Amino acid sequence: MMRYAFECLLRKRNSKGILRSSSRRCIVQKKNLCSSQRETARTVPRERVECVVIGAGVVGLAVARELALRGRQVLVLDSAPTFGTATSSRNSEVIHAGIYYPPNSLKAILCVRGREMLYKYCSEHNIPHKQIGKLIVATGASEIPKLDDLMNRGIQNGVDGLKKIEASEAKRMEPELQCVKALLSPASGIVDTHSLMLSLVGEAESHRTTFSYNTTVIGAHLEGNRIYLHVSETKHLENWNVRNLLHPELVLIPELVVNSTGLSANALANRFDGLHSGVVPSGYYARGCYFTLSNTRIRPFNHLIYPIPEDGGLGVHVTLDLDGQVRFGPDVEWIEGIDDISSFLNRFDYSVCVNRSKRFYPEIRKYYPNLKDGSLEPGYAGIRPKLSGPRQSPVDFLIQGEDAHGVPGLVNLFGIESPGLTSSLAIAEHIAASRPKTKDHGPIVEDGHRSQEA
Ligand SMILES: Cc1cc2nc3c(=O)[nH]c(=O)nc-3n(C[C@H](O)[C@H](O)[C@H](O)COP(=O)(O)OP(=O)(O)OC[C@H]3O[C@@H](n4cnc5c(N)ncnc54)[C@H](O)[C@@H]3O)c2cc1C
Repeated sequence: MMRYAFECLLRKRNSKGILRSSSRRCIVQKKNLCSSQRETARTVPRERVECVVIGAGVVGLAVARELALRGRQVLVLDSAPTFGTATSSRNSEVIHAGIYYPPNSLKAILCVRGREMLYKYCSEHNIPHKQIGKLIVATGASEIPKLDDLMNRGIQNGVDGLKKIEASEAKRMEPELQCVKALLSPASGIVDTHSLMLSLVGEAESHRTTFSYNTTVIGAHLEGNRIYLHVSETKHLENWNVRNLLHPELVLIPELVVNSTGLSANALANRFDGLHSGVVPSGYYARGCYFTLSNTRIRPFNHLIYPIPEDGGLGVHVTLDLDGQVRFGPDVEWIEGIDDISSFLNRFDYSVCVNRSKRFYPEIRKYYPNLKDGSLEPGYAGIRPKLSGPRQSPVDFLIQGEDAHGVPGLVNLFGIESPGLTSSLAIAEHIAASRPKTKDHGPIVEDGHRSQEA
């Protein structure tokens, strides 16, 4: 019953007519929208909670579990009807070794730590996974120095077992592969992400975490240095028009908030009235499409095969899932953002246009020359939440706490692209261990509504 408590609370309050539909229409500037929302927030019921994790993707789930295991009372809110419906179910499912990222960056540190934690977690919780290893391939002489750079970087990041191999050895390991040299990464592997998320949900729930799906955080405001989250049932946003004002149905007053909303994290933080807008970085979206291999009875590869990374992504690589299906991708297509509420509702374009395969064939044939015509079928697409745009240098994960924005108890997770899945348990450990301060909050302003402990 516990898991439905929050949704029931929302429903009860709606039936009392607390939700008012607005007939006012105007062209909404962000500032007006926030302050109007703030005014309405004064008139709706308020609840005190200890920790709120916004977003039930693999990262939010890992954070909720970690906090719950440490004895904290956690409420997870997600706009979708269940967990893991966004980027966490639209990726390569690769456990990365930690090769690509600048030494001492969060990506490097959290990927290496997260990979170790993830293998251990999967073994202990019977999550399907396999350490199948990866070959990063140079397909022309000009790429060999890049392979050397990757090897040096990987070693600096603490990746064990990296080995540069000749084309002949690579060919012995993978007879279908064409390359001039390769870098073998034995630590890389694959994981069944859905089973992982299911296990994280189960553990969090058994440590008193409450999940409230179909529940969207539409913004927040600060009072006395304390954050007040504005919450709405998702169904009330479904017909929302950008010209309408949004009204919360409930205000939550948490001691700790983790904004783990992936593709929406920047848009949501921009709706935190009182948070200095300069601290919210610009976000960019890079869609990646996958094609699956059909018409092939024997799968051509047993390892992950990656080309040299390209601008915005790791290159059209070969991934294998645990059922042995072969897929190629993701490519990189920079796309424009959508309005905030559509992003909260995950209304991104995930369609895979069959014509894109024309670009895949030549890319893949650089390392797999025997790829047959007509063997690629559209798979699925995912979108990378990025903090750098086209032709800009890659940017690190941004885990933003009070030191950066001055709000006690608020943690924003920005730019959690790859290797976010691999790093999820380490990101959670990092956040829980940094013990975000909760002492400096101002008093809670009741505004005529009695706050309750949730
Ligand atoms: C194409 C692609 C390939 C990738 N491959 C790999 C890989 O092989 N290995 C790897 O380690 N990483 C990979 N990644 C990265 C990895 O998938 C992500 O880093 C990870 O899934 C991010 O998880 P998350 O929980 O931060 O975000 P998400 O999974 O996007 O979850 C965010 C959640 O927030 C919810 N939400 C959004 N707005 C609101 C709101 N306002 N109120 C309430 N809820 C809200 C959404 O419904 C969603 O459930 C890949 C990413 C992409 C795009």
